[in-house]
Amino acid sequence: MLYNDEICYILRPINDKEEQTYTYEIFNLYMENKNLTIEQMKGDNKIQKQFLEEIKNKRIDNEINKSELARILGIARCTIYKYLKENTISNLAPTVCGICGKINSDGLCPKCTKILEKCAKFEIINKNICMNFENLIYIFKYEGIIRKLILDYKFNEKPYIYVSFVNFILKNKKIFEILKSYDTIIPVPISRKRMKERGYNQSLLIAKKLSEDLNIQLQTNCLFKTKNIVEQSKLNKEQREKNIQNVYELKNEQIINNKKILLIDDIYTTGSTVNECSKMLRKAQPRKVDVLVLAKD
Ligand SMILES: [Zn+2]
Repeated sequence: MLYNDEICYILRPINDKEEQTYTYEIFNLYMENKNLTIEQMKGDNKIQKQFLEEIKNKRIDNEINKSELARILGIARCTIYKYLKENTISNLAPTVCGICGKINSDGLCPKCTKILEKCAKFEIINKNICMNFENLIYIFKYEGIIRKLILDYKFNEKPYIYVSFVNFILKNKKIFEILKSYDTIIPVPISRKRMKERGYNQSLLIAKKLSEDLNIQLQTNCLFKTKNIVEQSKLNKEQREKNIQNVYELKNEQIINNKKILLIDDIYTTGSTVNECSKMLRKAQPRKVDVLVLAKD
């Protein structure tokens, strides 16, 4: 990767250090995709100027306008996500509160913690009788500001909010102790098509951070979504149950045999998604399947 004085020279009109770091990365991607060498870029003021013009103001606070960048670079949005994730996201994203955007090392500032606390439920419901999983743990009711945050998180290119959510969840002692008792964390998978469109699986981001912070194994090699279906949120209860049937596949089932599994999803409405996933997981004869969601409708 090009990350040197020469690029620094070309990017000298940008004064802000952090902005320069960000622009370096995008600059590399730009050259790579346009098949330009650093020599060509150095020798061509027009290309430099055009690039700098286009790239200016494409970053607001900690948020990167990925659709806009994809347009400038002439590549798919998912490539941007992938690139940022692999190369730069830790450099690029200053540690800020994912909710209000103010600098904060925890990813969640005291003011926003208070807002979340007001909405938090931290409830556990036993679903043993009607569902394929045992307990449902939910953090919030799906309403008000929480609803807005989750929709932003899921659909409005704000994947970084997962840090705020997970940090908030783990601050609750009761939930922390309960979550620590699982052997394996599994996110509800999304289809490849959806992954390409969105660039990230919102449940995987949460599952991954939980697994790291709790030191529990993350398992993404067992449960797969093999069909792309109509969004569940657009359907009623009966339609949802039908829509979700036979869209998941179980592989490498021996890995989760006899394990205490925590299945992660973002929103719980009728429960048909996590129920169908649990049905598949149970084929591997785990010791237990429980579900954790951010919010329950
Ligand atoms: Zn905040």
